[in-house]
Amino acid sequence: QNIDWDEICNELSELEVIRDRTQLSKLSQDYYHFSPILQPLLQDKTADLVVRPVNEAEVLKVAKVCVQYKIPLTVRGAGTGNYGQCVPLEGGIILDLSKMNKINWIKTGLTSVEPGVKLAAFDKQAREQGWELRMVPSTYRTATIGGFIGGGSGGIGSINYGQLRDRGNLQAVRVVTLEDEPQVLELRGDDVQKVNHAYGTNGIITALEIPLAPAYPWAELIVTFDDFMSSARFGQALGNSDGIINKLICICASPIPSYFAAFREVIPEGKHCALLIIAEPSLEPFQDLVREFNGEVCYQKSSKEANKGTTVIEYTWNHTTLHARSVDPSLTYLQALFPLDPDLKLIEHCYHHFGDEVMLHLEFLRTQGQMLPAALQVVRFTTEERLNEIIRYHEDKGILIFNPHTYILEDGGMKTINLEQLEFKKQVDPHGLLNPGKMRAWLEQ
Ligand code: FAD
Repeated sequence: QNIDWDEICNELSELEVIRDRTQLSKLSQDYYHFSPILQPLLQDKTADLVVRPVNEAEVLKVAKVCVQYKIPLTVRGAGTGNYGQCVPLEGGIILDLSKMNKINWIKTGLTSVEPGVKLAAFDKQAREQGWELRMVPSTYRTATIGGFIGGGSGGIGSINYGQLRDRGNLQAVRVVTLEDEPQVLELRGDDVQKVNHAYGTNGIITALEIPLAPAYPWAELIVTFDDFMSSARFGQALGNSDGIINKLICICASPIPSYFAAFREVIPEGKHCALLIIAEPSLEPFQDLVREFNGEVCYQKSSKEANKGTTVIEYTWNHTTLHARSVDPSLTYLQALFPLDPDLKLIEHCYHHFGDEVMLHLEFLRTQGQMLPAALQVVRFTTEERLNEIIRYHEDKGILIFNPHTYILEDGGMKTINLEQLEFKKQVDPHGLLNPGKMRAWLEQ
């Protein structure tokens, strides 16, 4: 379609608009390159304009222009997503919300924020009042709250509070629509699920109410083990130790720790390790658990020191993959959820079955009232066929794979069409302008 971009810039002349080619390509990308499958599909996709609104009124203005000229619009937070969530498949406008970064208020256990607030910046301020976010991704320093809701799933803290999709982890949102007359809607309670983790395909979130967790002084530790299954069983036992307050249990099989440049002097070669965050008042009982499993604490940072320099957080969740790939760029990854398995027999099976080809990296989390091991396995990539074979092998054993090698919303997630999100899209984006090409249900209707 022929859009006169000079005319569009004129329409948006009171807003910050970016047309510089280098900036456009940069702001059209995210971290999809972790996937050798997505890399060739997305590398050339570029927006025609980037617009940076500073408030909801400016978002409404952009929405109106997009509807009037039928311009595709893709929302962007910090662009740290892994599946090309904010890559504009059909060009158009990237709506960069990083300047909408006001914290509206923080009350007991609840906050209201604009979507561009960075997670770490929020926690720094909230901790002064004794609160923090219930969960953050390992990209917490750069990622935005709106982007985490739009494209993330969980992270550090999920061991206590489950994942973002769990009822109660998102209280309310304000959403700008792309109807013929764009408007602002407020969704509360279960209605938030209409836009939660929808890749910005059915509304632009302009404010969020998020429940908080009490903030503890958190110590960071690394414990090493001689054999992998002891480290996995230790992780499970820690997750089940209701009296030990923690918020991160990450288990890495050897040779993954050898990819961690900052810890090369700390973690002896060939050892398997647990990267952990434990509340300082719980450190004494924690030491007893370490002894029970013959672990060895090789690194410990107090809560005060943990705020400065290296943090274990940036070696866990998908940062584990990042560090592995910085040593060997041919490596890629999977995302999995293991079923309830008190003896960890499936994990033991996978560990021996795949050996070095699928290196086990576990992240324990709570989901639906149970503590389960999720995994972001580091995979030695050979061919797409072999990757799919590995995925099928896991699925045949009852292990859920959240495929990170697709940009389609449903294919990467629960693999089912979300009728509620589709119905909401029909209502608020009748012209299909929001992040086109990402929602299968819309494409196939
Ligand atoms: P973006 O990438 O900018 O956006 C993500 C999606 O949300 C896009 O589809 C976008 O269109 C949409 N969106 C953004 N803002 C809005 C809005 N206001 N309204 C509607 N839609 C919107 N994810 C996890 O869940 N847990 C992890 O531990 C984790 N670790 C990671 C580690 C690494 C090294 C990397 C590269 C990624 C990781 N991720 C993780 C993925 C990603 O960093 C997080 O999900 C992050 O929260 C995304 O925030 P963002 O601001 O970068 O969002």
